Amino acid sequence: MAVQSLKKRKSDLANAKRQLEILSNGIFASDELPTFAEKIKKSNQFPLVPKKLEILQLNLGYMCNQVCAHCHVDAGPDRKEIMTKETMLLCLNVLRKSQVHTLDLTGGAPEMNPNFRWFVEEASKIGVQDFIVRSNLTIIKANKKYYDLPQFFKKYNIHIVSSMPHYTRGKTDKQRGNGVFDKSIKALQELNSLGYGMPNSTLKLDLVYNPSGAFLPGNQQALEQDFKKALKEDFSIDFHQLFTITNLPISRFLDYLIATDNYGDYMYALVEAYNPQAVQNVMCTNTISVSWDGWLYDCDFNQMLNLKVAAKTKHISAFNEENLQDRKIVISQHCYGCTAGAGSSCQGTLI
Ligand code: SF4
Ligand code: SF4
Repeated sequence: MAVQSLKKRKSDLANAKRQLEILSNGIFASDELPTFAEKIKKSNQFPLVPKKLEILQLNLGYMCNQVCAHCHVDAGPDRKEIMTKETMLLCLNVLRKSQVHTLDLTGGAPEMNPNFRWFVEEASKIGVQDFIVRSNLTIIKANKKYYDLPQFFKKYNIHIVSSMPHYTRGKTDKQRGNGVFDKSIKALQELNSLGYGMPNSTLKLDLVYNPSGAFLPGNQQALEQDFKKALKEDFSIDFHQLFTITNLPISRFLDYLIATDNYGDYMYALVEAYNPQAVQNVMCTNTISVSWDGWLYDCDFNQMLNLKVAAKTKHISAFNEENLQDRKIVISQHCYGCTAGAGSSCQGTLI
């Protein structure tokens, strides 16, 4: 790794440690809050353990053409961490042996990994039921080398899942940067023209909503209806489902909460909305998240806090599904974000 990346890696680890201390030690108004472990003990759900492994989520790198205000990956154009072809080969080996039905590629902007297209082609040969790419949409319009991504996605029947914080320009650009809304609209129209997101189309196009501030998302179904109506009326855009995701108190969003003096209130709101039913379906129970450098995590959020799986084999090079099934999931206060209200995951609400 280049010197610059090593320095960034060190500062990331220091940042993850600092954030974990904030979450675990309960500073500010959250001192009196029960720990997540105590909370799930009360509903006999401790320790949290995995069910069948169904989803392999791969983080192809932290490089992104955007710098969104609430990015939990702290991604941006200056990030150099990228999954190598060697690590991708290890992931392909795991995919061959495993029974996972979903492969979920995320980043940063996964398309910016120089081996992205090669990897998609190779993974497609192995075949999974659901092959997701989390595309930020604007990448399609960022540079001419990405202009043909929609056709590429279609060729491999990729399921596209894209963030779209709001159906208005103001709210979207506030969270994701000036000009993001207009580029996203153009990208969605182009995807629609290829059949993506159209009624009854097998080319799946889903959108993701996350709140623009220190509050919980509204009802997923109601928001989906609002999005569908507004995007259809204003831009003739169709899409399939809207997933609502709660902002977890980590990374840039945790710093935002602290800087705006909202941390305590937000944690209270999450604990207040705790729903034991959501615990049964949290995504760490059926997912393994693999970082750009091949380490294994219970979820993408634990990856950002450097909380590796509590299993003997912690790296993709020694992936052992049986061993991983025996683990206890690593939890902390940020987990309240997954169990508030109707619950939250990369696939939207949980109940
Ligand atoms: S597009 Fe996604 S990965 Fe990129 S900065 Fe925004 S939230 Fe982070
Ligand atoms: S943050 Fe991760 S480990 Fe915690 S409940 Fe959510 S998915 Fe599970």
